[in-house]
Amino acid sequence: PTPASNPESCPALRVVARCRPLSRREEAAGCERIVELEPGLGRVSIRNPRAAPGEPPKTFTFDAVYDAGARQAELYDESVRPLVDAVLRGFNGTVLAYGQTGTGKTYTMQGSWAEPEKRGVIPSAFEHIFTHISRSQNQQYLVRASYLEIYQEEIRDLLAKDPGKKLELKESPETGVYIKDLSSFVTKNVKEIEHVMNLGSQARAVGSTNMNEYSSRSHAIFLITIECSETGPDGEEHIRVGKLNLVDLAGSERQGKMGAHGERPKEASKINLSLSALGNVISALVDGRSTHIPYRDSKLTRLLQDSLGGNAKTIMVATLGPASHSYDESLSTLRFANRAK
Ligand code: ADP
Ligand code: MG
Repeated sequence: PTPASNPESCPALRVVARCRPLSRREEAAGCERIVELEPGLGRVSIRNPRAAPGEPPKTFTFDAVYDAGARQAELYDESVRPLVDAVLRGFNGTVLAYGQTGTGKTYTMQGSWAEPEKRGVIPSAFEHIFTHISRSQNQQYLVRASYLEIYQEEIRDLLAKDPGKKLELKESPETGVYIKDLSSFVTKNVKEIEHVMNLGSQARAVGSTNMNEYSSRSHAIFLITIECSETGPDGEEHIRVGKLNLVDLAGSERQGKMGAHGERPKEASKINLSLSALGNVISALVDGRSTHIPYRDSKLTRLLQDSLGGNAKTIMVATLGPASHSYDESLSTLRFANRAK
């Protein structure tokens, strides 16, 4: 087991890129690979398939890059584990998967549950959290889970009896921004929290006739709240609360005038509203000189307000496809991620 890291050593923001392998279909079609990663240097190069001869590839540097051969556990241990350790000590944290549909956001966040080596960030975090708790001696933990989604700037509780109901964001001086009536379940072990996850995933699928299309347009947020109480040397009970937001974002593909899926312009613009607001919030945070962080511009950024910036820890995993036909979208993902550095 990896020793728990010091939350001070977990950076406020970590940006990594991950490129999936060519799919079988891309391989069969003889697709050209235009993305190259240099894990040792944290570097990604992307070649424009329409470039003039001699034109150099565009290069970006991130905190880490993961190529097609990178294992799920590698990404978790190196990039996510320190953040979850910080949450276990009372920090708020957010893991975001950002990228075009079909590039590996869900693979990164969920992966394949049945195959241990393909388990993604969420099941790995479950194991990590409950292993930590089972080894702790003097602390009492309370773990609660919620699962929600934002679709066209409307919030749905995936664990509610009526998941069709739209929930409201509220704000109070004591608790900050919260979702009114959001369900949460106390979970005592991995099995229980997995069960909660499955319930929500089922509700998500039920609400949609075309799951792929639907999930490409909505943000899914699995929220884990970890309360830790400990009796201090003074005999007093101390309570720390950390929140972990695990976010599988909507696809970042540009919505044309009529939307990538034929919506009316107004609907199309709502789909990426939260994504562009997220970009603006992160770059304002990174800039450091901005006095105004535009959290209020979207549901997603309002919701994550206390888990992005300030004392919170954030990781963005930018996911890319390797093939030439994804050039425009991959470049735009790299630019988005680059703004966050
Ligand atoms: P997204 O959620 O971004 O739309 P998915 O996670 O569904 O994309 O990935 C699309 C396809 O690519 C899936 O079949 C998935 O299993 C596969 N895939 C994605 N990333 C990887 C990876 N790093 N290694 C192997 N297969 C991957
Ligand atoms: Mg997905």
